[in-house]
Amino acid sequence: MSADSLTLCVIFDKKPSAILPAAMKLKGRTALVTGGSRGIGRAIAVALAEEGADLALNYVSSEAAAQHLAEDIRTLGRRVILARADVSDYPDTFRMAQEVLQEFGHLDILVNNAGINSDKTFIKMDHAAWRKVLAINLDGAFNCTKVFIDQMIQRNFGRVVNITSVIGQIGNFGQANYAASKAGLMAFTKSLAKELAGKGVTVNAVAPGFIETEMVGAIPEKVKQRLLDQIPLKRFGRADEVGRAVVYLVSSDGDYVTGAELSINGGLFM
Ligand code: NAP
Repeated sequence: MSADSLTLCVIFDKKPSAILPAAMKLKGRTALVTGGSRGIGRAIAVALAEEGADLALNYVSSEAAAQHLAEDIRTLGRRVILARADVSDYPDTFRMAQEVLQEFGHLDILVNNAGINSDKTFIKMDHAAWRKVLAINLDGAFNCTKVFIDQMIQRNFGRVVNITSVIGQIGNFGQANYAASKAGLMAFTKSLAKELAGKGVTVNAVAPGFIETEMVGAIPEKVKQRLLDQIPLKRFGRADEVGRAVVYLVSSDGDYVTGAELSINGGLFM
């Protein structure tokens, strides 16, 4: 311990260990983030890697972005593998899981983040737009959880985090498909949390409000201003703020939390 640290111990009357730099919270853990190539998924992957986790980055089309991120994360000293798969396609997801498990041996942390929207008022929404959003946002979480859960149960340890949305909590004009997928994902989260609580696996959700990503970037300026007026903290959230919420849930800090939906929304819904 440095002389400075010892001085601090005396000043604050703390045990020396209490003020040493915190150890990385996820050292030795393996994690897969779906839709980890960009936006919120990218920030979650970075946050997990910064805390020591080895990463499998799932994406479906953004190969270059995923490769670039993998290189960045490797500079932190973590192992990273690219795990391309369309999460809405069960056989493709199953193949991806086999490759990840072959490489890492096991998976401790699964973050079901991949998601899309296809907004239209219900009158104009066709069956294809309904199915596509449900297939990626909800079936995708089923598929990915299904292909990794057995080995979590066998090892009596697992952390599953599903990325829901404030829209699943309050509904939204023009987003019946998206809202339904996210509300369904939360009900899935709570049911699984109850089923797996005795098996060492926690299952939680993080519900972002409006976060500065491409998804929010696409909202017209006038609508953005109206949204900001409704957010008590008067700003959109940042993806890294969602990343840190996920770290909390999957590290030992969150060991006593299961079936929860952690809202990161600036007070938009409370
Ligand atoms: P984004 O920037 O559009 O990124 C979406 C990610 O999902 C990409 O990595 C994309 O991969 C991946 N993806 C899409 N379809 C996929 C598929 N079939 N299989 C595998 N991966 C797929 O979205 P985002 O804004 O970061 O949102 C991430 C999550 O947060 C979503 O679940 C979203 O609903 C939720 N959320 C976002 C906000 C927000 O304000 N942005 C608010 C609440 C909740 P490719 O790059 O390969 O296409």
